[in-house]
Order: sequence, then structure tokens, then C-alpha cells
Amino acid sequence: MKNYVICDIDGTIANNEHRAHILKELVDSDKHRSSEDLKDDRWTRFYDLCDKDTPYSDIRSLLKALSSDFYSIVYLTGRIERIRGKTTEWLWGHGFPVGELEMRADGDYRPNAEFKLARLTELGLTPDKVLCILEDNDVEALRAAGYRVLHVAPGGIR
Ligand SMILES: [Mg+2]
Repeated sequence: MKNYVICDIDGTIANNEHRAHILKELVDSDKHRSSEDLKDDRWTRFYDLCDKDTPYSDIRSLLKALSSDFYSIVYLTGRIERIRGKTTEWLWGHGFPVGELEMRADGDYRPNAEFKLARLTELGLTPDKVLCILEDNDVEALRAAGYRVLHVAPGGIR
């Protein structure tokens, strides 16, 4: 039975454009996540500013409707455990429906899609149990694994 809805955070329900320039700098300078990058305090700054994100209220409304209609919400994010407190304060403080929060372990540098697919499998959240995944990235990889993905993109869902 499909009674779970999986939802990404950054770019899907959280507008993080105010800190996107830090990520762009890191990507442009080839500073992808690695143990070496722990020394780069721009990653720390990028994560620590997450409580200043603004919510996408339309997607929040959609999640609220789904959660009141018996679907369990699981927030699945590439954010690291270190900012769990800030993330839960942000989610519940902005009125998002309560659900499980699945985060990347500190020191887990796998690409987001790989991390997310592995975590879904660990949790037993196979495509037959998931109504849909709300995501702004990694859409093709999740679809290829059999999930129905609602691609939350600037300006709409496609
Ligand atoms: Mg995202």
C-alpha cells in the first residue's frame, strides 16, 4: 500500500537562494564533499545558514493536505546530522507537517542520489509503499529506481 510521501528539503520546501552563492563557489572551485573539505569553513557556513531559509508555502500546503489524508511524511535530505536541531526547529516552526527526518551522517560524502536511494532501501520504503517523492534534484535516478517523482522546479511541479 502506498502510504508514504517522501520530501526533500533544500530547493523543494526550503528556499535557500540566500546561501546558494556559497555552494556555487564550492562547486566552481571543485570543492565537492570530501574529508579534505571539512577544512573548508565555507561548508560550515553553508549549512549553518539553513535556519534563514524561507519556506515554499505552496508545497507546504500540498504536504499538509497529504498528511491529513493519511499519508506519512518522511523528510529525506542530504543535509548532515550536525544541523538536525536547526532543521527540525525550522520545519516545525514553519508549520510543516510532522514526519520522520532522515539525514546524511556527518562524514558521509556519497552523492545525494546514492545516499537517498540507499536510505530508502534501508528504511524499506520501496516504490510500492511510496505515493511520490517531492524533489528538485536527482529526479532521473529516483525515477529509474521505480519511484514516482514530482519534480518541484522553480515555477511549478512537473
Ligand atoms: Mg534539494
